[in-house]
Amino acid sequence: MEGRAAEQQARLRALPAVHELLNDSRCRGWLHRHPRAVVVRAVQRALAAERRAILALPAGVPPALDRERLLGMIAAELDAQVRPNLVRVINATGVILHTNLGRAPLAADALAAIRETAAGYSNLEYDLPSGERGSRQAHVEGLLTELTGAEAAVVVNNNAGAVLLALSSLAAGREVVVSRGELVEIGGAFRIPDVMRRSGAVLREVGTTNRTHLRDYEEPIGEQTALLLKVHTSNFQVVGFTAEVPVEELVTLGQRRGLPVMVDLGSGCLIDLSRYGLSPEPTVQAQIRAGVDLVTFSGDKLLGGPQAGVVLGRRALVRKLRENPLHRALRMDKLTLAGLEATLRLYQDETRAVEVIPVLRMLLTPESALRRRARRVATMARAALGERCEVRVQAEHSQVGGGALPLLALPTRVVALRPRGESAAKLEERLREARPPVIARIREESLLLDVRTIADDELPLLRQALRALSLSW
Ligand SMILES: *Cc1c(COP(=O)(O)O)cnc(C)c1O
Repeated sequence: MEGRAAEQQARLRALPAVHELLNDSRCRGWLHRHPRAVVVRAVQRALAAERRAILALPAGVPPALDRERLLGMIAAELDAQVRPNLVRVINATGVILHTNLGRAPLAADALAAIRETAAGYSNLEYDLPSGERGSRQAHVEGLLTELTGAEAAVVVNNNAGAVLLALSSLAAGREVVVSRGELVEIGGAFRIPDVMRRSGAVLREVGTTNRTHLRDYEEPIGEQTALLLKVHTSNFQVVGFTAEVPVEELVTLGQRRGLPVMVDLGSGCLIDLSRYGLSPEPTVQAQIRAGVDLVTFSGDKLLGGPQAGVVLGRRALVRKLRENPLHRALRMDKLTLAGLEATLRLYQDETRAVEVIPVLRMLLTPESALRRRARRVATMARAALGERCEVRVQAEHSQVGGGALPLLALPTRVVALRPRGESAAKLEERLREARPPVIARIREESLLLDVRTIADDELPLLRQALRALSLSW
């Protein structure tokens, strides 16, 4: 026991001092690139870890200091400290609108617009022709009305905010009639009815979970009624014995009783997906054509733009939203506005939109292209991982996610990695910790990389992650 204590003391004494390590040529290199306090903290942490390791050593280990290992520990500490918390990841889940992975990646034009306007000053709220104060809404309102046929538009921070603003402006202290079958939870225990109540509106839930008829909406209408509301059941579908009231009938009822009709569309789709062989998702334009008075939707779901909440509809109603003080609290920032405007401009040419807006491109990628990409990824994986994994290309299905097209399962190709000598769960963890992190799903002892959500220009990054993975194995 005494021998062990003496050994430990000797090893602890042999540890270099902080200032001595800082003088090492490698540390001096780091000091050029990183703040001194950060490098010093990394050195201190590495030394503390080494001290703990020495004290935990069993007896009989000869005192030896491995300077290289210590410097390696400092490098790892430093790396952990200077790496940003929010980083790009490769989405190999195949879920196109993955809420936890940031929903919609932006088109190149949107990125360029954000960069350009963010780097300097802009005419955000400045009317250049008159030299007077302008409205930030002016930059997108014309595009939105042109693309959808709506009279007016207002954009806010996200769709939950848009719903809150609309209900607060049109129905605070009064009743909103809504079907029980449409009181949706979006995820993360976030429920649309809770947001609605916060607006001060009183929900009059009608009908049942599976069936709601026009008479259910009509029956409670009275002095207190302010609005008829329809919520698109964007992340689930009730099947079997069901009935919902078509929006056209609700509009007729609203007109007959002098009540505005609002539709929370969730995912704002501007193109008719059935033209591309997908199941039809209600478009924004169809709602406006049907006579809906107010439509709300997200900017970062099927629209494929930045996080935003868009409200479109009758001028007089939109004006009420703009005059509500909540509008200021929920206002969209200039970076979002730049990205949204650029994204909307792309929709002026649908052929181009489906090619360059990443969400649409991923949704509509033909199977032949997926097969080709899967073969490339498989070749990369074999080269990087060699004998450690069995690598196969398989047919699978991807999901759209993010509250859009809930039942749609898109045929896709996945690269299945079946590790030899370790579990798929361990491989999944390693890939998650790779640079860049790769997020994938496990199925029966294989890790599946769905190539639908991996862009071609991300393949070099994926190769880098796979190579780094083989080093840590
Ligand atoms: C997604 C969704 C929302 C919330 O939109 P955010 O932009 O995420 O705030 C609201 N309503 C419906 C029907 C949705 O699908």
